[in-house]
Amino acid sequence: MLRDLSDYPNDTIEAMFVRLANDTHADKIDLGIGVFRDDSGNVPVMQAVRRAERRLIGRDRSKSYLSPLGNIDYCRRVESLVLGADHPVLSGGRIVSAQTPGAGAALRAAAELVHGVSPGSAVWVSTPVWGHQIEFFEQAGMAVRTYRYYDRRGRNLDAEGMLEDLRSMRAGDVLLLHGCCHNPTGQDLSLDLWQAVAEVVVEVGAIPFVDVAYQGFGQGIEEDAEGVQRLAASVPEMLLTVSSSKSFGVYRDRAGLLSIILPPDSGNAGAVRRKLRDTLRQLYFMAPDHGAAIVHEILSTPELDALWRAELDAVRDRIIALRAELRMTIERANPGFDAGFIERQHGMFSCLPISHEEQLLMERQFHIYMLPPARVNVAAMNREQSRTLAEAFAWIRAQRGTARADAVA
Ligand code: PMP
Repeated sequence: MLRDLSDYPNDTIEAMFVRLANDTHADKIDLGIGVFRDDSGNVPVMQAVRRAERRLIGRDRSKSYLSPLGNIDYCRRVESLVLGADHPVLSGGRIVSAQTPGAGAALRAAAELVHGVSPGSAVWVSTPVWGHQIEFFEQAGMAVRTYRYYDRRGRNLDAEGMLEDLRSMRAGDVLLLHGCCHNPTGQDLSLDLWQAVAEVVVEVGAIPFVDVAYQGFGQGIEEDAEGVQRLAASVPEMLLTVSSSKSFGVYRDRAGLLSIILPPDSGNAGAVRRKLRDTLRQLYFMAPDHGAAIVHEILSTPELDALWRAELDAVRDRIIALRAELRMTIERANPGFDAGFIERQHGMFSCLPISHEEQLLMERQFHIYMLPPARVNVAAMNREQSRTLAEAFAWIRAQRGTARADAVA
């Protein structure tokens, strides 16, 4: 049956990880995978997570099935964490949620659900966007459209281009936005722009879909959620996915949220919940609980919640310091080059202004691995790697002549 599959190709992201795994150079640098690393290159486990795990084990909890909707207590806590406990959507009972095996599964399930109930809806994604996101929507059968988002030349948001493109959305189309720390650019919307987007969405009758994967990694736990909170208060309907992988460092435990925000007085929350339950069951049957139980334990235990917040603050402080350091080393190694965008942007990622060919050249010459489009995981670096990256960038610019280098989009 699978005889003809011998030349099945790697997708571009997986292909990079294969090249990285096959590289035997002792000091190869992995800036590809989206994990936070400490100075020794480890992916640390938070103390709040360790303590929550111990408490859960001590309680001898059941391992019986939940429902396809997963851990509902986790859902309530994460809804409040992202939207704020007093949000009108929560007090109005306008939200239907499920706990999923991470936000990846939540995105794929949301696409399946949307395509099932509204086959004519297209999804609009930013240019650029985290590559797997396109895959989730395409595999569900949805048409994928793109909107301008990041101006690589100016290394800033293309707000005008974005709004112009969004005005071409049709009623029932879905608009995918990143709640904070945009993947891959690190370039976030200003609060004014969140407002402008809300107005366009209401005007054209589109449905915003906010993916929150890095709450606490950008400007603060509360600050990072302000855009999504305001949008949810300004639109009748919305989709929301949340990842606990990064904010709690429970990547492999697979905990995420998928929420559907319903219009006021829609009266069909029960039917939506049943449709969501059945969609999830048809995709993967049941959710894992370990990660969700940990996150719930932390958020419902004041001392663990305080510890987690302090640990997440320290993660964010380190990322901000690494961004300042990288800006400085790049500017030092590249006199006249303005690397201010690295400090302006938020979260794990920023993109270097180099072409795909140059990214591959950097890989071969310096053993530095990034995801397209030259996405650097700043949160995975140490000082020495920051210097190597700055030198590699200078070398690339020298190869092609400085004048053209900075104009590359
Ligand atoms: N959304 C975004 C924007 C992401 O960057 C990621 C992970 N890279 C995810 C969702 C998926 O996260 P997870 O499935 O680990 O929760």
